[in-house]
Formats: sequence, structure tokens, C-alpha cells
Amino acid sequence: MEKKRKISIIGSTGSIGTQALEVIEKLNDKFEIIALAGGNNVELLEHQAKKFKPKYVCHNANGKVLNEISAEILHGEEGLEQICSNKENDILLIACSGRIGLKPTLKAIENGIDIALANKETLVMAGDIVMKKARENGVKIIPVDSEHCAIHQCIKDIRQVDKLIITASGGPFLRKSIEEMQKATVKEALAHPRWHMGKKITVDSATLMNKGLEIIEAHHLFGMDYDDIEVVIHPQSIVHSAIEYKDGSVVAQLGLPSMHIPIQYAITYPERFEGIESKSFSFADAARLDFEKPDFKKFPALGFAYHAGRTGGTATVCLNAANEEAVFAFLDGKITLCQIVEIVEKMLLEHKVIQNPSIDEIFEVDNNVRMLTKKMVASY
Ligand code: MG
Repeated sequence: MEKKRKISIIGSTGSIGTQALEVIEKLNDKFEIIALAGGNNVELLEHQAKKFKPKYVCHNANGKVLNEISAEILHGEEGLEQICSNKENDILLIACSGRIGLKPTLKAIENGIDIALANKETLVMAGDIVMKKARENGVKIIPVDSEHCAIHQCIKDIRQVDKLIITASGGPFLRKSIEEMQKATVKEALAHPRWHMGKKITVDSATLMNKGLEIIEAHHLFGMDYDDIEVVIHPQSIVHSAIEYKDGSVVAQLGLPSMHIPIQYAITYPERFEGIESKSFSFADAARLDFEKPDFKKFPALGFAYHAGRTGGTATVCLNAANEEAVFAFLDGKITLCQIVEIVEKMLLEHKVIQNPSIDEIFEVDNNVRMLTKKMVASY
């Protein structure tokens, strides 16, 4: 990277976005920030804009103003579209959570801008369309999700790969009984043993829905059949995922559990630079690496994700929308942790799947399922 790589970040105030800015601060001679887009946290966005001096800042907070910054201020979906159509960008980091990620990703692909993708919902909702458009436009999609980033690093030639092995820490309830899980408070669900992340993904990690979404994400990113994607519980989160080649060789990617590493990999790919984590990995310090099969009974979300993925079409849109709304309801204290997945199952059973949906149909199903999920939540 001789000349500075021009980057924009969608979701700069979230967990991935702020860590990406830490990486960029460390590699400050390698990057130029074109735009930062955040949601409602205008104070943080303002602070970031003063520090990193982007040309554009986009927010979604009605009635709030950003003071004393030189950037051009953009607003809402229109602003995101403008950022993602700006061909000045070499790469776009999609770091927001939820369905907001889909439209900006498609816009960037249409404009031939490479993508570092941290938003898994984009592929869960519209993986077929997104990957097809990316191929047609010669756009690279580099995964930021640590498991997919690991697999990306392991693969030389996908045609020689037999199986993807996605690791899961197991979340805070791995060693708890189903009865204990049923009584879990929001605080317990948010106490992830290995990773510090946003609330939505942390709850997903407690139900293992996060792993379910990652199976679907992996299917699209690497074009693997669901039968060839395996989940293994690995509580230490040192092996970030692995692949098995046809000849029986297994290649895994290891490292300390820090999101700075996959974020840096994705935004600097294919180059590598000295990273932000000063601690070097030691096998002797890690001492033990344990692996076990996931318990599909205790964590039914995994089975539902495989089922929705194999069904295809809008089944995964339904899975994602019902889950997201149910997670919000859990965080609001309206339902219990185990009722999240119960509601997702009911919504999947009711859903009439549309195969090969258009983007408009995807958003229609998404809206519909969210409305029905809210209704169902109200009946609990
Ligand atoms: Mg992950």
C-alpha cells in the first residue's frame, strides 16, 4: 500500500466501528478516511470527525446538529447511499448491525467498491443476490466476522475444500442447565466470557443464534453446501475456525481473541502490517484447547438456522427478522431468553417461503415478519 487506502465506515460508533478506528489510528499513514456514518450517538460521531477529519459525516439523529466539524454533514439512508456511491472509496467497512447494512452494501457493489463486511445480516437476508452482484462487478467481499475471516485466511483454492469447521465459544450458558438458561436475566445473557461486542450480537451468542447466522453467512461467502459446514464448540476462542481439504489436511487459523485482528486483516487485505495487539501468541500460555459437539437440544437456534438455510429463499429473511425483533423484546424485558428462539421457530413454521426473492420482496418479508413478531411478543 504505497498510496493511502481510502476508506469509509458505515457504523463508526458501534463496537466494530470504534475498533476499526483504533486500527486506523495505529496505521495512520496507510489510510485516508472519506466518510464516517453513525446512528444516533452524535456526540461520539462528532468526536470521531474532529479526530479523523473525514470529508463526509452521516448520522441518523433527528433534530441534532454536529458542531465545529469541517466535514459535509449527510443524513439518513440518503446520506448512506451517497457515501456508498462515492467511487473515491477504495474500500467500505460495513460495521452496522441489523438490516441497515444491506442497502449500502448493494450500492457499494454496484459502484465497484470493495467491501469489508462485518454485518452478517446482509448475507443472511440476501446472500444470493449480494454474492452474484459482487461477482458480476468484480467486487471483493472480505469478511470481518472472526470465523469467516479465519476461513478466508485458510483457503487457497475453494474447489479443494471438503468442509468448513466453524468454532463457537458456546457463550455464557455453555455449562449452565436448560433450567438455568430459562431463568437467565438480561445481565447474565450480556456477560459473554470471551468477546466484548454490541448487545444484539451478544444475546445471539448466548442462544447460539449468532452461530446459526454464521453458518448461513459461510454458505454464501464460500459457496459451501450446508452439509459441509460444521459447528464445533471451542470455549477458549483461540482457534477461530478451520477447513478440511479433500486430502484430509486440516488448516486452522489461531490467535488471541481480539476483533482488532480480523478488522485489520479485512481492511488491509491482501497486505499485512504490524497490528495493534502488542501481545504475541503463545501455545504454552494457551495450554489447553478444548473441543466438543454443540448441544442442538439446549441450543435449538442452530438447528433452525440449518433448516432455514437449506430451505433457502426468504426463510433466512424470516429467521433473521423474527430473531432480531425477539432479541429487542428480550432486552426490553418483555420475554425470556429461551422465548427468543421459541418465537423464531413459530415464525418459521408460519412463513410462506418465496424462492429467488427480489430485494423489494426481501424487505417486504422483513417488514412483515417484524410486525408479526411484535404481535406475537405482545401475546406473551
Ligand atoms: Mg463471529
